[in-house]
Amino acid sequence: MTERPKLKRVVLKLSGEALAGDVGYGIDTNIIDSISHQIKEIVDLGAQVSIVVGGGNIWRGAVASNQGMDRASADYMGMLATVMNALALQDMLEKYEVDTRVQTAIEMQQVAEPYIRRRAIRHLEKGRVVIFSGGTGNPFFSTDTTAALRAAEIEASVILLAKGKVDAVYDSDPLKNENATRYDHLNYLDILNNSLGVMDSTAASLCMDNSIPIIVFGLSQEGNIKKAIMGEKIGTYID
Ligand code: UDP
Repeated sequence: MTERPKLKRVVLKLSGEALAGDVGYGIDTNIIDSISHQIKEIVDLGAQVSIVVGGGNIWRGAVASNQGMDRASADYMGMLATVMNALALQDMLEKYEVDTRVQTAIEMQQVAEPYIRRRAIRHLEKGRVVIFSGGTGNPFFSTDTTAALRAAEIEASVILLAKGKVDAVYDSDPLKNENATRYDHLNYLDILNNSLGVMDSTAASLCMDNSIPIIVFGLSQEGNIKKAIMGEKIGTYID
């Protein structure tokens, strides 16, 4: 019998950090290749895949603002950075013959479609991958909040929050503390009350208010995206 995804329509959130690999900056094409290959696999299984890309591998508004730059301008630069990541991912997905559309919350007709909710849903129904770039289009927000917002809008069944360095949520940084406790399951309030560093409170509240579950998992093991959509237990489940 053919395998069928348990989670039909998903929002995969790829942080900029996950795209940067070990160098910690820019785009590691090997990582984009591995992600694209994994996405092809789940699209072929019939999953409707949308992706929200971060931009922290290129630019973070809050960091520049701490160094004296106007926050709104710095954030707009961050949103533009997400478009660069989106185009890199689209290019690789197309090499794997996955039909892909980039939509952006900040209009730039020459490079991407504007974000149009109904059009995004139509693309997904036709089996195309939709990459949401440009964040929410507003400064002072994050791409985690974008993932929550888009998931609510397109009625996704889950947000797959892919991390570059960790494979789940821990009570402290497992890379620095070998005794860090790993969580299999958390609820939204744990995320809001503790500073576990999973996502910002705006994003977590939006997920809670709209009952959107989140699976936090590591990208370093190939096959994890498929495991997540097949309903296998990986990483940390938040609901
Ligand atoms: N950003 C923004 N509004 C949004 C989404 C993102 O202003 O709706 C800016 C913000 O400056 C942020 C940057 O874009 O630092 C990159 O996004 P984020 O930090 O969420 O990326 P990630 O941490 O996932 O790489």
